[in-house]
Amino acid sequence: MATATAATAVPFRFFELSVVRTERLGPTMLRITFGGQELGGFATGSRDQRFKLFLPHPHQETPVVPTEAGQEWFARWRAMDPAVRGIMRSYTARDQRRDPDELDVDFALHGDSGPASRWAARARPGDRVTVLGPVVEDNGGVDFRPPPGTDWTLIAADETALPAVAGILEWLPASARAKVWIEVPHPDDRQYLPTEADAEITWLFRSEAAQQGRGGLLDAVRAAELPEGALYAWIAGEAGSVRAMRRHLVGERGFDRRAVTFTGYWRLGATEEELVAEAVSAAAPGRDD
Ligand SMILES: Cc1cc2nc3c(=O)[nH]c(=O)nc-3n(C[C@H](O)[C@H](O)[C@H](O)COP(=O)(O)OP(=O)(O)OC[C@H]3O[C@@H](n4cnc5c(N)ncnc54)[C@H](O)[C@@H]3O)c2cc1C
Repeated sequence: MATATAATAVPFRFFELSVVRTERLGPTMLRITFGGQELGGFATGSRDQRFKLFLPHPHQETPVVPTEAGQEWFARWRAMDPAVRGIMRSYTARDQRRDPDELDVDFALHGDSGPASRWAARARPGDRVTVLGPVVEDNGGVDFRPPPGTDWTLIAADETALPAVAGILEWLPASARAKVWIEVPHPDDRQYLPTEADAEITWLFRSEAAQQGRGGLLDAVRAAELPEGALYAWIAGEAGSVRAMRRHLVGERGFDRRAVTFTGYWRLGATEEELVAEAVSAAAPGRDD
C-alpha cells in the first residue's frame, strides 16, 4: 500500500516480556501468562495468531536477539552464534487482555527433549523472554482465513494446535458451521472451547490409540460422513500427520487444494532449528525443487 508507514510495512517487532504466572490446564497443557511494559503494542489478529518466542540459554538471564526487528531480523538472528542467540520457537497467542496488559500462551509439554518444553515446565514469575509479535491486527501471522462463500469448516489438530483451535472457535461467528477433531494425549487435556458457531467437537485420546501411533486423527476424519457444500479445512499438528490428512482431503475426498490450510507445527524426530535450517536450504538460490 502506497501510504503504509515503515511500522505497518513490517507489522512485527520484538517485545521483552516476563512470566507473570503459570496455570496447569491438564496433564499436558501449561498456560503461561506474560506481562511487560511494552505489551500494550502487541496486537493479536486472534484465531491462530502465531509469533516467535525467544528463550535464553541456561547460562543467560535474557535471550539475545537482533536489536531491530525490521525485514532483516531473521538474517541477523541466523548470523549470530547459535550458542549465544536466543532459542527461537513458534507459538500461538492464546489470549490477550488489557489493564493490565497480559498475553496467555499454552504450552504442550513433551518432557525435557526440547528447550521450549523444558523451559516452560520450569517457568517461574519474573523469568524473561523476548517475543517477535504483531503490532497490527491484520498481519501475516494469521493463517485461518476461510474464503467468502464457505459453507462449513473442517478443523483437525493435535495438542500443539489446541490453542489455535480455541482461538479460531472463539472467532467464528454464529452463522458458521464447523466439524472439529482434536487429538490430545489424555482425556483430562480436554478443554471447554467457547464458540458461537455451530461446532461439533470430537476429542481423541492418543493413549487409547497408542497402537495406531499418530494415525488417530486421520482414521477419525476418514471414517466421518462430511456435509455437502463449500468446504474450508484448517489442519495443524505433527507434520507427517498433517501431510497425510491433506492427502486424504485433497486426494481421496477431492477437496479443492486452495481451500485446505495446512501447517506442520512440529515434526517427529526433528527440532525446530532443524526445520528452520531445512526451510532455509530449500529456499536457497539455485534450488528449484
Ligand atoms: C505456527 C505454530 C504455532 C505453534 N503454536 C504452539 C502452541 O501454541 N503451543 C505449543 O505447545 N506448541 C506450538 N507449536 C509447536 C511448537 O513450536 C513445537 O512443538 C516446538 O518443537 C517445541 O519446541 P521444543 O523446544 O519443546 O522442542 P524441539 O527442540 O523443537 O524438538 C525436540 C524434540 O521434541 C519433539 N517434539 C516437539 N514438539 C513435540 C510435541 N508437542 N510432542 C512430542 N514431541 C515433540 C521433536 O520432534 C524433537 O524430536 C506451534 C508451532 C507452529 C509452527
